[in-house]
Amino acid sequence: GLRARSAFKLQELQRQHGLLRRGAVVLDLGAAPGGWAQVAAAAVGPAGRVVAVDLLPIDPLPGVHVVTGDARDPLVLERVRALARHGAAGADVADNDVVDDNGDDDQPAFDVLLSDMAHSFTGHRSADVARVQALCEFALEAAAHPWVLRNGGNLVCKFLRGAGEHELRALCQQLFTKVVVDKPKASRKESSEAYLVCLGFKRH
Ligand code: SAM
Repeated sequence: GLRARSAFKLQELQRQHGLLRRGAVVLDLGAAPGGWAQVAAAAVGPAGRVVAVDLLPIDPLPGVHVVTGDARDPLVLERVRALARHGAAGADVADNDVVDDNGDDDQPAFDVLLSDMAHSFTGHRSADVARVQALCEFALEAAAHPWVLRNGGNLVCKFLRGAGEHELRALCQQLFTKVVVDKPKASRKESSEAYLVCLGFKRH
C-alpha cells in the first residue's frame, strides 16, 4: 500500500500532467515518509531511479535511494549528485531522447524534480506562506544547477497561496515552457497549499 495519503496528490498530478515517464531519473525533495517516492518509483519503473531527500529518515523503499539531511545543505546535495551520476545509465537506456552523459559529471542527471517540502506550520500565516515559498524557490534554484535538471525536464513544487505567489509563478514561467497551478482533490480544501506544475525546463 501507499505510505502516505499525500501519495494520492502526486498520482493525480501524474494523471493530469504526465510528469513521470518510464526510465526517468527523479529527485524528490521533502520525501518523508515516502508516499511520493513510491508513486514515482512505480511510474519510472526498473529502468528509472528515484533519489529521495528529507530531514527525517525514510524507511527503505524498492527503487528509491534515500539521502537524509537538509536539502539546502551543500554536503547533502553532493550525496545526491553522487547517486544521480550512478543512476544515469539506466535512464539513458530507456529514454532515446536524452543525451548520453555516462562519465560526464557536469551533465544534468535528473528528468524530474519534485518538492513537497514544508516545515511544520507555526500558525502565523504570512510567515508560513513565506517559508514554504522560500523552499519552492530553493527547489527552482537547485533545478538550475548544471548537474540537476535536464533541458525539457519537469518540476513540481508545493507552495502556499498568498503574498508572493505571483512572483513565484513568474519565476517558474521564466524557466519552463508551461506552468500551471494545480490543487489536487486529495489536498484538503481548508489548506491553502497548491502545486506549481512546471513542464519543459529551458536550460540555458
Ligand atoms: N511527499 C511526502 C510523502 O508523500 O510522503 C510528504 C512530505 S511532507 C508534506 C514535507 C516534508 O518536507 C517533511 O517530511 C519535512 O521533513 C520535509 N522538509 C522540510 N524542509 C526540508 C528541508 N530543508 N530539507 C529536506 N526536507 C525538508
